[in-house]
Amino acid sequence: MEIKRTRIVELLNKTEFGETVCVKGWVRTRRGNKQVAFIALNDGSTIHSIQIVIDLVRFDEELLKGITTGACIAVNGLLVESQGQGQTAEIQAQDIEIYGKADPATYPLQKKGHSLEFLREIAYLRPRTNTFGAIFRIRHHLAFAIHDYFNKQGFYYFHTPIITASDAEGAGSMFQVTMLDMNKAPLTEDQKIDYSQDFFGRHTNLTVSGQLEGELGAMALGGIYTFGPTFRAENSNTPRHLAEFWMIEPEVAFNDINDNMNLAEDFLKYVISYAMEHCKDDIEFLNKMYDNELLDRLNFVLDNRFVRLTYTEGVEILEKSGKKFDFPVYWGADLQSEHERYLVEEHFKCPVILTDYPKEIKSFYMKQNDDGKTVRGMDVLFPKIGEIIGGSEREADYEKLLNRIKELNMSMDSLWWYIDTRKFGTAPHAGFGLGFERLVLFITGMGNIRDVIPFPRTPKNAEF
Ligand code: ATP
Ligand code: MN
Repeated sequence: MEIKRTRIVELLNKTEFGETVCVKGWVRTRRGNKQVAFIALNDGSTIHSIQIVIDLVRFDEELLKGITTGACIAVNGLLVESQGQGQTAEIQAQDIEIYGKADPATYPLQKKGHSLEFLREIAYLRPRTNTFGAIFRIRHHLAFAIHDYFNKQGFYYFHTPIITASDAEGAGSMFQVTMLDMNKAPLTEDQKIDYSQDFFGRHTNLTVSGQLEGELGAMALGGIYTFGPTFRAENSNTPRHLAEFWMIEPEVAFNDINDNMNLAEDFLKYVISYAMEHCKDDIEFLNKMYDNELLDRLNFVLDNRFVRLTYTEGVEILEKSGKKFDFPVYWGADLQSEHERYLVEEHFKCPVILTDYPKEIKSFYMKQNDDGKTVRGMDVLFPKIGEIIGGSEREADYEKLLNRIKELNMSMDSLWWYIDTRKFGTAPHAGFGLGFERLVLFITGMGNIRDVIPFPRTPKNAEF
């Protein structure tokens, strides 16, 4: 008799027993004695494995030999109430099929408790561990919560291009996209590579942000958000930077910087509480195994209003703190994560939004304040992470934007379409960018951004 497969998460929630069920999954552990084997089987639907009880005399010896850690099996059996502690249901095996063996001599995930560093080296297998199962389920639920939030708020999901001709954002170096053969690239008269002969007829890169195009969407649809991959050839090997990461960028017509801060705070609180509700078991597991303060930290963000102050006020606090920082603090300095974390963790003891940064350390498109020195940017700073969101009210005035672009000697060639929005029906507007992996870092309590994306891309690392 063919029985339909049930996901283990559903079986572990059952309160009625006695039915014959079918489960399929990967063997996590096998223990037992001469009469009976106990298999912990996991199918990825939950952090919890289900126990399969195998009465050894009923099965062929060859088959039993193949049921080792890592093997994939299908089991038909009777669902019974578990006698063991900590689990509700277990399965008495009636019929077992092995889909794929995993040779104990070579399967790398034999024992529990491998280091995260080791697991990074076998990133192609690490989803099979409890830890990474939990992280990737949380990642999924967060992505869903983000779409859910914006959809409920009346925002439209707007797809911005991944290949772009604008390299104007200045957010770190970009990866070039080309079909030219670099060994015999066509040259212009002044001996530069002639990109007019390239695939797109111009020089193109992978995008560092969907914001500029997102603004075009907001100027028509009102409120939009992007959620897509972004690329930065940052050669900094930090635990908070990836070369390929996902970014969420809402952009809203008629919002000013205060609306923008309210949106950022409400949005972050929504997705965090969503994860706490829908990923309870996984978050509790990570809290127990990796970061005992995780749950407290999450509740702390939900329970507190984010403190809002200007960059100038923030720098004063840092200067007066008497604390020794690796990087010096002075008005005009780009704040480092040690400064950001001091404000959040030691001074205010709550999330912080800093606003009105010196224009020199922020992008050209931020709205200029009347003081001529600062712009209406805002960074949201979180415990353990530092900057999680960067955003601003945008400069909506054509002349002011143009002057800033000239001041910075930026090329109009790749930006004219962006500036045009300020000529045709311009409007006040604001938006921000949330690095998705920084959010996942925060909610999982993991310490390294390489551990919250299935296949991390960092300098010298793109094998799988
Ligand atoms: P940082 O100072 O931390 O490098 P940034 O100022 O370059 O950040 P923005 O250009 O404002 O960041 O990008 C918006 C958001 O994208 C950041 O707040 C952060 O959450 C995320 N982010 C930026 N760079 C990276 C990266 N290399 N890897 C992962 N997330 C990133
Ligand atoms: Mn950066």
